[in-house]
Amino acid sequence: MKDTFTLYTLDVSVTGDPHTFACGHTIGHAFTAKGENIIFDELNNQFSMYALAALLPLLPAKQRPTVANDWMTSDDTIACPDPHCGAQFVISRRDQTTYQRSDVTKTPHPTL
Ligand SMILES: [Zn+2]
Repeated sequence: MKDTFTLYTLDVSVTGDPHTFACGHTIGHAFTAKGENIIFDELNNQFSMYALAALLPLLPAKQRPTVANDWMTSDDTIACPDPHCGAQFVISRRDQTTYQRSDVTKTPHPTL
């Protein structure tokens, strides 16, 4: 039995009209979600923790391959959780990486 699965690497970036921002967002600030890690590059090294809190529950689902009719496949724009803020965050799927199940969990495989 194959002990592998694939996940998309995600890029998440700030978009929208900066004149509508109530928070300290900056267009183009971004991070990458690869496997279990959130990666900030040196130039885009800050991101609203409130926005991050709104985004985090969606990232593991967006990392997983989905069928074409699943809204998780197509919907990629998330609003800032501040109702007075016009910022949006775009989640872009990049390449897929293959992971070894036994490298990321100690839970026995359910079919073994
Ligand atoms: Zn905001």
